[in-house]
Amino acid sequence: MAETVSNWAGNITYAAKEVHRPRTAAAVRSIVAESARVRVLGSGHSFNEIAEPGGDGVLLSLDALPVEVDVDTAARTVRVGGGVRYAELARQVQGHGLALPNMASLPHISVAGSVATGTHGSGVGNGPLAAAVREVEIVTADGSTLVIGRGDERFGGAVTSLGALGVVTALVLDLEPSFEVEQHLFTELPLAGLDFETVASAAYSVSLFTDWREPGFRQVWLKRRTDQPLADFPWAAPATEALHPVPGMPAANCTEQFGVPGPWHERLPHFRAEFTPSSGAELQSEYLLPRARALDALQALDAIRAAVAPVLQTCEVRTVAADEQWLSPAYGRDTVALHFTWVEDTAVVLPVVRQVEEALDAFEPRPHWGKVFAVPAGVLRGRYPRLGDFRALVRELDPAGKFTNAFVRDVLDD
Ligand SMILES: Cc1cc2nc3c(=O)[nH]c(=O)nc-3n(C[C@H](O)[C@H](O)[C@H](O)COP(=O)(O)OP(=O)(O)OC[C@H]3O[C@@H](n4cnc5c(N)ncnc54)[C@H](O)[C@@H]3O)c2cc1C
Repeated sequence: MAETVSNWAGNITYAAKEVHRPRTAAAVRSIVAESARVRVLGSGHSFNEIAEPGGDGVLLSLDALPVEVDVDTAARTVRVGGGVRYAELARQVQGHGLALPNMASLPHISVAGSVATGTHGSGVGNGPLAAAVREVEIVTADGSTLVIGRGDERFGGAVTSLGALGVVTALVLDLEPSFEVEQHLFTELPLAGLDFETVASAAYSVSLFTDWREPGFRQVWLKRRTDQPLADFPWAAPATEALHPVPGMPAANCTEQFGVPGPWHERLPHFRAEFTPSSGAELQSEYLLPRARALDALQALDAIRAAVAPVLQTCEVRTVAADEQWLSPAYGRDTVALHFTWVEDTAVVLPVVRQVEEALDAFEPRPHWGKVFAVPAGVLRGRYPRLGDFRALVRELDPAGKFTNAFVRDVLDD
């Protein structure tokens, strides 16, 4: 009987005819060579059908491969296997006195799956997680292995690739010396009079949270590197208790707050690695648009908050520095990312998603590739100036479309 596999949120059940969990790199290559249609499933934290191979395809999970995390302390790089998650990577990198520049809100997600979708943390000076990648190793359609590094003219399409080029079996990432971070939380930051640039630049990584029941932010999370100055934050009151971004959820699942310094990997994510999120009773959407328009976009959301608030658990506002991956939602523009954690009911959430997209349309938002969105593919294509180059790269590496699925076909207009 065919195995049934769902994503982490449980809103997608993959229709793949077979699921493979190879134990060796050689088995990965032969499965690819022998299959007509393949998609890799990472840690399954996407909320849409991006990983779906279709009913005649094979879903390939790399989580039974030996965990490969190979730190080169002299070169300050790490080679990480295609199935490894950030929690394991970060623990080993820190063990060598080194660090990644940034992390997403939780460490349970796979590295390859995260960089494939343009996953990001926050910070006006921090690019998406893919910005740390210097080399990608890919098993391509005929089962052979191709390495594309920075400096190769194809590199711009090779990292944030939506899984369309082949199976990423390893990535080499840049590291830096380990650093410590303190989290300082504040409450009740008004929208009126908000100087977004100053607030977003108040620490190495800044997140604002709102439930849109009021026009302003319930929580501000400042993540300060202890090797950088502590800025004054006179716009909101310091939190008096430990907080979870979703009101009513236990703060014990969150990383240490109240300015207690700790290693980067135990402060940059909001959620602790040892807290295992079971199935998520939520859906997520996120829109990335030019940072210079942040205040206008927040005001546009404020104008529809009566529609948004009833189906929202929390909305998080972060920043991402421009990067050069052709399909990165932060490609070529310093970005503000407006994230929504919705209730888990697709039928009630989708109409509100459309309303949010309409409200933000003037700012040409690029939806997060791994989250729920309804922006028509034709509109999306106009928001990626290097899409034609990406399409050409897919045709060069995978002429028969072995790694292409309905989601990717829509994006590429194939
Ligand atoms: C609770 C939660 C918190 C989140 N927080 C953030 C956040 O802070 N910031 C943010 O930007 N996003 C966030 N996300 C979204 C998440 O980072 C993305 O969906 C990301 O893609 C997850 O990685 P994954 O391995 O689980 O991806 P999957 O859903 O498994 O796969 C995503 C895509 O990557 C491809 N892929 C995966 N591995 C490989 C590989 N080895 N080779 C080729 N293709 C591959 C898949 O085919 C698919 O197309 C969050 C999601 C959840 C559920």
